[in-house]
Amino acid sequence: MTIAAPRPRILTGDRPTAPLHIGHLVGSLQSRVSLQREYETYVLLADVQALTDNFENPGKIRQNVLEVALDYLAVGLDPQVSTFVVQSRLPEIAELTVFFLNLVTVSHLRQNPTVKAEIAQKGFGESVPAGFFVYPVSQAADIAVFGAGLVPVGEDQLPMIEGTREIVRRFNHLYAPVLTEPQALVGRAARLPGLDGNGKMSKSLGNAIFLSDSADEVARKVRGMYTDPNHLRAEDPGKVEGNPVFAYLDAFDPDRAGVQALKDRYRRGGLGDVRVKRHLLEVLEGTIAPIRGRRAEFARDRAGVEVLLREGTARGRDVAARTMVEVREAMGLDDFRERGRRPQEGEKA
Ligand code: ATP
Ligand code: MG
Repeated sequence: MTIAAPRPRILTGDRPTAPLHIGHLVGSLQSRVSLQREYETYVLLADVQALTDNFENPGKIRQNVLEVALDYLAVGLDPQVSTFVVQSRLPEIAELTVFFLNLVTVSHLRQNPTVKAEIAQKGFGESVPAGFFVYPVSQAADIAVFGAGLVPVGEDQLPMIEGTREIVRRFNHLYAPVLTEPQALVGRAARLPGLDGNGKMSKSLGNAIFLSDSADEVARKVRGMYTDPNHLRAEDPGKVEGNPVFAYLDAFDPDRAGVQALKDRYRRGGLGDVRVKRHLLEVLEGTIAPIRGRRAEFARDRAGVEVLLREGTARGRDVAARTMVEVREAMGLDDFRERGRRPQEGEKA
């Protein structure tokens, strides 16, 4: 009899600050769907991380946990294969975060380019909530507690994965080599720009096309998209670089030669924004319409979605508890367990 080797693990996730958008699809969701059978996949609904800049509005985060779960189901993450985990139900992550905080310096955290940009965007100034400032450390704990070797993410998250690798190396060197050093996997569009031409489409910047938008909403958003501001008449030559209409065609139109021909014509002059946007709308609808349909089906049974979140969270918590047994053992913190307490799964009795 051969014993199957354990599958390598994926940990990935999203902040439930709003439903997911088409940037998530090409940045990370499609990789997750295509790898979910090859890897043991855990998908984290990162509500604790979402609270770091929404702590005054926990109701919004609670509500969006379900919206994001519906997006997962709609794009083809299979809850029989992938495990959906609600972060706030795993105190093990909070515990590991506290240990990890000793392994980074404030000056190193200050240099994180993504956090720097987000602090500026959110207008925090000097009043950055400490929880927000250290979210890359809690993200390292998310990844490490699941023993993940691969993390599908968009480009903005690469500094977090690099930071995780550094913390894990530090931990393994100082205590005992029990944690896994993860690799990032960036999707086919590393950073989809926003409708406004901003460098990144984000849930919280008001520049996104959501996977749950109606056909009318998608049409309205595409019509209002930023293009080349100097391309006033169809016959004028236009700019393709920095033009989100073409970035979306690159990400979603499978007809590569057709996209190239459109770019050439736009650059030369003779292709109006209205026409190219009409084509983009067709392409996007081809992608979004089936997702929208499946989402509506799953949304008819919200109670069923909550059940699978509860089941997934319980499975995720078992994995996290097992890792923490090894972490505490590595740090020599396992001596003072309360007598009579039932050992957690994976823990020595
Ligand atoms: P928020 O504005 O609340 O931070 P967000 O749109 O940035 O929301 P996150 O939940 O922070 O979304 O990110 C989830 C995952 O999706 C991450 O791996 C991130 O890198 C990826 N991602 C987010 N936006 C994009 C984008 N525009 N292009 C590609 N990947 C993206
Ligand atoms: Mg984000």
